[in-house]
Amino acid sequence: MPKAQETLLEIDLNALKHNFDHLKSKLQSGTQFLAVVKAYGYGSDACEIAKYLQDLNTDYFAVAYTKEGVALRESGITKPILVLHPQPVNFKTLIANCLEPSLYNSKILNEFLTVASGEKQKEYPVHIKFNTGLNRLGFWENDVDYIASKLKATKSVKVKSIFSHLAASEDLNEKEFTKNQIKTFKTIASRFSETIGYKPMLHICNTSGILNYPEAHLDMVRSGIGLYGFGNSKKENKPLKPIATLKTIISQIHRIEKGESVGYNRGFKSVGFLKTATLPIGHADGIGRQYGNGKGYVLINGKTAPIIGNVCMDMIMVNITDIDCEEGDEVIVFGKDKTAEDFANTANTISYELITSISQRVKRVFIK
Ligand SMILES: *Cc1c(COP(=O)(O)O)cnc(C)c1O
Repeated sequence: MPKAQETLLEIDLNALKHNFDHLKSKLQSGTQFLAVVKAYGYGSDACEIAKYLQDLNTDYFAVAYTKEGVALRESGITKPILVLHPQPVNFKTLIANCLEPSLYNSKILNEFLTVASGEKQKEYPVHIKFNTGLNRLGFWENDVDYIASKLKATKSVKVKSIFSHLAASEDLNEKEFTKNQIKTFKTIASRFSETIGYKPMLHICNTSGILNYPEAHLDMVRSGIGLYGFGNSKKENKPLKPIATLKTIISQIHRIEKGESVGYNRGFKSVGFLKTATLPIGHADGIGRQYGNGKGYVLINGKTAPIIGNVCMDMIMVNITDIDCEEGDEVIVFGKDKTAEDFANTANTISYELITSISQRVKRVFIK
């Protein structure tokens, strides 16, 4: 790779394939693979990621919102796309783009039935979401008869899958809770299938569910973070490869004398001579203020340079006193060795938040 000459998020598609193959190797041959590409593909560009995964024969895609599904269709994704959290205002757009809604309460179910029949749909594929303990979205177990009665009264939709979401699949201290969620889901699913008279697909596992609960893979699994290279534990991270590397460069070097300050509100005050480098990346690029004042650090020529003072909108300043470097040199914010998870942990957050926060201003570059 040529050295970065500006702030870039480099996406390694070989690493994506590696992660996809690794996760697939955990599955029985009959289990389908749904790739979660919501939130701009966890910051890595949903359309590019989905096109590549479609070529690798991913069975299904999921996004959170209708708009994200439309973007995938416009970039040529033809595989089925589940919309996890649609709103009725977008149901016509959703149908026009052959996107498949998750129906998670009676209001959403009824509004979708009205729009689907108004649009003269026959057996339009929908997915019924059950709440089994996360208490976020989903019907409750005692809604089964109600949903079934609604479905029996229409030919506009057909249930393609029943699903639920695990609350603590990465936390092995919550094994009992998770096993109970899985058991509840299986009970609901078999009652539901009996009541409607056919068997939709079943799925409940996210990435950590895939890795920790092989008995719950069922007909399909839904993986997001694993594809991007994180497994939510040291052991599970090991066989995965972070696909995104955030690079920037040194714009300017300053020599700071004792008693001077650096950055807004004089966030840093020097107690002795130091050298700082100003980097063209700030909170508007997704490096939030929580990384400032010594928490986060970057790598310059293999050495650690802590962020000093407050993070600005477009810049950060880092301490390079002991680093041999010059203006124009490449800087690694996170990547394969010092990962997004490592960087996120310095500010008490998680890889999910950091990678989905890298803003659209940062150019994405794909390498194969
Ligand atoms: C985001 C999401 C996933 C993916 O979870 P990962 O932990 O990133 O694998 C799966 N299912 C649902 C319902 C989600 O919202």
